[in-house]
Amino acid sequence: MSLEKTTCKDQANGRMAKISRRELLGSAAAALGAAVVPSAGCQGGGAKPRKLDKRVIILGFDAVSPWLLKRYMDQGHLPNLKALAEEGSFSELQSSIPPESPVAWSTFSVSAQAGVHGIYDFLNRDLATYTPRIASVKPVYPKFLWDLIPLGRPRAVSLQTGKPFWKHAAEHGIKSAMIEAPVAFPAYEVQAESILLSGLTTPDLRGTQATYHFFTTDIYSEDFEDTEFGGKVSPLQFDKQGRAQATVYGPWNPVTRQKRVRLLDKRNRLAAAGAHSRELAGLDQELDLLDSENYLTIPITFKLETDKRKIVIGLQGQSVSLTQGQWSQWLDVEFELNFLVGVRGFTRFHAVELGDEVKIFMSPVEIHPEEPVFPISYPADFSRKLFRGIGYYKTRGWAAETAALKERKIDEKAFMQDLEDIFTQRSAMGLKVLGEERPNLFFEVFSETDRVQHMFWHYIDQTHPVYDSSLAAEFGDSILRVYRWMDSFLGEVRSRFVNRDTLLIVLSDHGFSSFRKGVNINTWLVENGYMKLQGQDDPRYNLKDLFGGGDFFRNVDWSRTRAYSLGLGLIFVNLAGREARGIVRPGDEYRSLLGEIAGGLKAFRDPGDGAQVVSNVYLGPEVYRGRRLDEAPDLVVGFNTGYRVSWQTALGAVPPGVVEPNLEKWSGDHCSVDRDLIPGMLLCNRKVARAGPDLRDIAPTVLNYLGVPVPEQYEGADLFEQV
Ligand SMILES: [Zn+2]
Repeated sequence: MSLEKTTCKDQANGRMAKISRRELLGSAAAALGAAVVPSAGCQGGGAKPRKLDKRVIILGFDAVSPWLLKRYMDQGHLPNLKALAEEGSFSELQSSIPPESPVAWSTFSVSAQAGVHGIYDFLNRDLATYTPRIASVKPVYPKFLWDLIPLGRPRAVSLQTGKPFWKHAAEHGIKSAMIEAPVAFPAYEVQAESILLSGLTTPDLRGTQATYHFFTTDIYSEDFEDTEFGGKVSPLQFDKQGRAQATVYGPWNPVTRQKRVRLLDKRNRLAAAGAHSRELAGLDQELDLLDSENYLTIPITFKLETDKRKIVIGLQGQSVSLTQGQWSQWLDVEFELNFLVGVRGFTRFHAVELGDEVKIFMSPVEIHPEEPVFPISYPADFSRKLFRGIGYYKTRGWAAETAALKERKIDEKAFMQDLEDIFTQRSAMGLKVLGEERPNLFFEVFSETDRVQHMFWHYIDQTHPVYDSSLAAEFGDSILRVYRWMDSFLGEVRSRFVNRDTLLIVLSDHGFSSFRKGVNINTWLVENGYMKLQGQDDPRYNLKDLFGGGDFFRNVDWSRTRAYSLGLGLIFVNLAGREARGIVRPGDEYRSLLGEIAGGLKAFRDPGDGAQVVSNVYLGPEVYRGRRLDEAPDLVVGFNTGYRVSWQTALGAVPPGVVEPNLEKWSGDHCSVDRDLIPGMLLCNRKVARAGPDLRDIAPTVLNYLGVPVPEQYEGADLFEQV
C-alpha cells in the first residue's frame, strides 16, 4: 500500500497535498476514539460573502436562570446585562422537551422540536439490544491492514438532522462565525468564508466526555476501579529516593477495540434474545481478556522532594514542578500506536495534596488544536490558527472539571481556577474572531454558567441536604462571580462591536433549579409492575460502560417488561415491532399504558414528606412530530423543583429505593425537571413583540433581520412580529 497518495487541494496553503504522516495520524486517531471523522481534507468554500452593514451577535450563556439573573441585576452586580435589559427587552424563554443542553441548543439551531433534529437527550438506545448510545454522534470504524494500519478514513456521522440557521445563512452569503457551537461535532462546512468551532459534544482524545487521571498514595480510601464518570484512579508508591511511576491511559487501541465492539454486539444481541447465561459466560470471558490490553499507554514519573513540599512530574521528556494547590502549565502528549501512527493531545496537572499522602490530578487529555485528530473546526486549519493566536485552549465541549469535583478528586478552589481559565480562553476566542473576521453573524456559547451552577447550587440553597453555612460563606458567591464574567464579556462586546445596525441577543437554553433528591425511575417501574427483573442484585454502571459499550439492563426480563427508563428522565415502552423483544401492542394497549404510567407518576408522592415528585409527564406522540419519531421517548418525565432523575437511572440501573437524598456536590440541575418550571432567559437590544418567546423563534428572527428567506420547515416565528 502506498502512503504517498495525491489528495484534494489543501485549504490551508492552497497547494496540492499528499497524504502526510499527519493525515495518516488523523485517520488512525479517529479510529481510536468513540467518535469519528468525516472527510476533513476536502472542504469547499462555497458562496462568497455578501457585503452587508447589518450584523447579528448572539451570546449563549448556558443555563442562566432568569430569576437569578434578575436578582443579581437588581442588586447592582451586572451593569451591562441590566443596561441591555433596559435598552431593549428581558423575558423568559421557553426551553425544549426535555430541557437539556444538547436538545435545547439543537431546537434553537434548527428551529424545531426534537422530532425533527432527533436529539432527545445525551443518550439514546439501540432498539436491537436496549443498550444506551451517545445520541449526537455515531462512530463508524475502519478496517486495519495487518491489524496495524487503518485502511481509509473512518467516518463520523452526526446524528442531528435539520439545518442550523447559520449554515442556511452562510449559503445565502452571510459570513458567519460560530464559536463553541453546540452539537456541531464533527465540524462541518459553512459557506461564505465562515468559521465554525465545535463546542458541546466535542470529546476528549479518548472519545469520552472527561477521562481524567488521579494518582494517589492513599490506597485505603480509594477504590481503583474506574469511577462513575469514567475517571482512572491509580495507586502511587514512592521509593526511598522519593520516586514513583504510573501509567497514563490513552485512547483505546483501535485494533482490540474493533474486536471488542464486534464481540460485545454479539453478546448483547444474544442476551436480548434471552440466551442462556452459560452461553454468555464464554463471551464475557473473552471480553475481559480484551479489556486488559485495550488502551494505548504512556509512562509517567513522579519525584517528591525530601521536605515533601514540591513534586516534579515527568511525561515524555517534559517535566513540571508543582507545590500543593497549584495547576501546572499545559503539556503536550503523544500516544503512539506504532512507529507510523500516533495521536497528539495536551493535558495539565494539579497537586491536590503533598505531604505524608500525595494526590495528583491529571486533566482529561484534550484533542490538540494544532493537529486535531478529529475535525473540530471549519475550515480545518482554523483551530490551529486560533491556537497560534491565543495559545492553548480546551477543545472538549464539556471543558470544566465537573466530574473530578463531583468525585471529590479536586476541590472547589481548583475547579474555579480552571473554570476561570476556560472563560479567559473562550472570551479571547470571541473577541479575536469578532475583531479580525468581522462576521455578519456571530454566535458563541459560554457553558461556565451551567457548570458552576451544577456544582455550587448547594451553596445558595439553604434547604439542600449538603448545605453548610461555613462553606457557603466561602463559596456562596461563586455563581455570581461567573455571572459577572459574562457581564464583563458582554460589556466588552457592546462597547467594541455593537452599533445601530447590530442586533444583539443574549440568551440561555434553559434555566436551573436545586437537585435535592434523586429519583430512581426504573425502581418505580419495577415497584409498579411495569418492569420485571430476573435476578436479585442489579449492578451499578459507570460512564466507562457507556463509552466502552458495557452491557446494560442485565437483570431485566424483557419477556415481561412493559416499560424501561434510560437517559435523563426518558421512559420507553417495550413496544412490539419496534423493540427487539417488545411485548406491548401498538394502538390502544400502547396508548393506555402511556396514560397509566403518566397518571401513576403524577400521583406519586415523596415517601419522606408527601410532596408531589413529578410535575408533568409529556407524552411523546403528543409533543413530537417529524421524521425521527421512532427514536423518540414515549414519555418524558418533568420533575418538580428539587427533584431530578438519579444518575443510575440515566444508565438504566435499578438501585434500591425510589427517592434518595442527593448528598453530592453536583447539587443543581435542569435535566429531567419540568421545562415549564425552568425557562431560559432572553435579552435583546430591541423590543420583542411576541409574547411567550420560544427557543425556536431566534432562527427566523435572525434570518429576517439579515434578509435571508426563512426555511418553510422552521417552527419558530419572528420575535419582532406580533401574533
Ligand atoms: Zn447543565
